[in-house]
Amino acid sequence: MARVGAWIRRFLDKPGSVDLAPFQRIVAEAGKLEDEVARRADLRPARLDPAWVGTAEFCAVVREAARRSLGQRPFDVQLVGVLAMLDGHAVQMATGEGKTLVGALTAAGYALRGSRVHAVSVNDYLARRDSEWMTPLYEELGLTTGWITEDSAPEARREAYKRDVTYAAVSELGFDVLRDRLRTDPAELVVPSPQVALVDEADSVLVDEARVPLVLAGAADPGTALPEMAALMRRLSRGYHYTLDEEGRNVFLTPKGTDTVEKALGIDLYEHPHAVTQVNLALHAHALLTRDVDYIVRDGRVHLVSASRGRVAILQRWPDGLQAAVEAKERLPASETGEILDSLTIQGLIRSYPEICGMTGTAVAVGDQLREFYDLRVAVIPPNRPCVRIDEPDRIYATAEDKQSALLEEIAAQHATGRPILVGTLDVAESEELDEALRARGLSPVVLNAKNDAEEAAIIARAGTRGAITVSTQMAGRGTDIRLGAGDPEQEKEVAALGGLYVIGTGRHESSRLDDQLRGRAGRQGDPGGSVFFVSGEDALLTAYIPEEPLPAADAGGVVRGAHAAELVAHAQRIAEGVNLEIHRNTWRYTRLLERQRAQILEQRERVLHGDAGAEALRQACPDRYRELVESAGAEVVEAAARQIVLFHLDRCWTEHLGFLSDLREGIHLRALGRLNPLDEFNKEAVPAYRALLDEVERRSKETFEKADVTRDLAEQGLKRPTATWTYLVQDNPFGSDWDRILKHVSNVLKGRGRRRG
Ligand code: ADP
Ligand code: MG
Repeated sequence: MARVGAWIRRFLDKPGSVDLAPFQRIVAEAGKLEDEVARRADLRPARLDPAWVGTAEFCAVVREAARRSLGQRPFDVQLVGVLAMLDGHAVQMATGEGKTLVGALTAAGYALRGSRVHAVSVNDYLARRDSEWMTPLYEELGLTTGWITEDSAPEARREAYKRDVTYAAVSELGFDVLRDRLRTDPAELVVPSPQVALVDEADSVLVDEARVPLVLAGAADPGTALPEMAALMRRLSRGYHYTLDEEGRNVFLTPKGTDTVEKALGIDLYEHPHAVTQVNLALHAHALLTRDVDYIVRDGRVHLVSASRGRVAILQRWPDGLQAAVEAKERLPASETGEILDSLTIQGLIRSYPEICGMTGTAVAVGDQLREFYDLRVAVIPPNRPCVRIDEPDRIYATAEDKQSALLEEIAAQHATGRPILVGTLDVAESEELDEALRARGLSPVVLNAKNDAEEAAIIARAGTRGAITVSTQMAGRGTDIRLGAGDPEQEKEVAALGGLYVIGTGRHESSRLDDQLRGRAGRQGDPGGSVFFVSGEDALLTAYIPEEPLPAADAGGVVRGAHAAELVAHAQRIAEGVNLEIHRNTWRYTRLLERQRAQILEQRERVLHGDAGAEALRQACPDRYRELVESAGAEVVEAAARQIVLFHLDRCWTEHLGFLSDLREGIHLRALGRLNPLDEFNKEAVPAYRALLDEVERRSKETFEKADVTRDLAEQGLKRPTATWTYLVQDNPFGSDWDRILKHVSNVLKGRGRRRG
């Protein structure tokens, strides 16, 4: 019903955001109740009344609760944001407007309606910070809160999920859901069924990270290290042996390269598909993944850098083969590998919540996606005080060199006045280069990147002090407020007089939204501030997305002027946004079916885990055996055994099904060559495979049940579950487009050669 509603709304709706007028009227009413409510001794509502939440009195009560517990009286605009979120919208509120408080007041509202709230953060630090920060507020209202981080033990997690409002990073939530997926004893379950997801930095989580799969893997044999392959790749040269596509997302061997590889390996690749995969992995690791950009090496291990957040993602790995290939490239021993037992995309995880709401500084730019993928609408909340930040037009240069020297000049000139500067770079390597260049000029910047993750919050908090130069990769989702003068009123005045925080972007991002996130760090709560981006014709954004449209000629100083240049930059960015949206859509087309099948299988699993569906099925399938066993071992033992047997095969078959779908997905593009629609082809095979899976569970369960000695440990009789499991995020989505495009390219090259030879 909700889907149909959304569909109709799409036609009836005026474009733009949610109408705030009804909320504003309620908030105006709340203002009149303020004095009366302030005289109440106890703010805890006498009874839970869902209808009361969202009224003027509710607003007055939570406002008073915030004032008493935190010493902060929520502004009217914050209450408007609360009401919009209680209505299930995504609110756009600028950086520094106090979204943490808005989120907590909203969560309290949902909890007072009787729902459990999962407050979704972008990282562990923020989950813990926000939960602890808002604890007094919840207590004032008679509610409880808890948090989960990567280090939380299962018992602590279970406790945290019992609270009214649980704060956790989206990955931790997903991993808990996945781990529960393997439990065979209901008492061990950790996560209760999903009710409300309240998502902070909603655009990051719901759009940028949406297609990232969370993976649960089980221990298997260590992977095959490929030192010879990696060594071979070092001998190849770009352009001659291999080429990259225009967007730098794919790499493929040229016929020359293929010959060289074949000679070195002494085989015909066309006849060795396994070797093709190995070569691909090694080449991908060699040519597309750059140390300190895509990953860093620390403590002798490869750590992935999250492309959209520029920080180390602990426990994140690529699909096993690629991880091993990067390890070989870096001459490290191969780490453990495993079998994927289950996986879930962030989008699938969040969509499993019946109620979703969110908040971010930049929602409008992804309004269509939020609506398309989550049925969320955007409510634009005005700032409490008008924004006076000065956003300068881009400074555009012909070459990267011209840009770099102008950038250094500008930083030095602004710094000389004492004005604090925040420089946003596009990746970690660029941060380090800039750090070096600034030091060479006698400046002392503080660099914030994936390598000093732990200290980032403290550094950001000081980024607004006099003379500070802070260099950082993406600021989106960092969550820390930058106060001018870091809270010292004297210095605040002084820094404000200098123009406030000056944000400099060293290049435009692939989305204007990320540019806006960076700009938004300056000019919070009506502070003065400024922002500017430096761009060059050699920036990846331009060379990758509009290679055939060069910038107009530069003047003697290397500066490119005029409206046309600015238009070209905007144009490149729109193309990048379009490409990324298409990738998102395409991934979702494939994962949607998988998520649906997953939901169905989980429903079956629940009935087996919590009920007697397993015993019932086996009683009907093998009535004689069932009767016989009950007589010899007792009904209870047989029921427990039946549950274990069916759960085992259900989980096992699902794992196999995932493997099948992943292979199918990888191979499906080849059929596109035969003019078949790959998605149709995928569905045509995935649907019957799922049906066959259910039959197979039944068949195997019957077989085990007929043979097994139910009085003995079933694990010793072939029902062995993985001994160790671990979880990770896949950045290079095996179901996504990057990965199979790589395979497709090489396959095509080989196909062509095969035909020529034949
Ligand atoms: P955002 O997440 O929107 O960027 P934060 O939640 O980090 O903003 O809040 C920014 C700062 O504003 C914090 O220091 C917070 O304590 C402060 N703040 C939020 N709401 C209020 C309020 N109503 N009155 C005074 N200070 C507030
Ligand atoms: Mg925030």
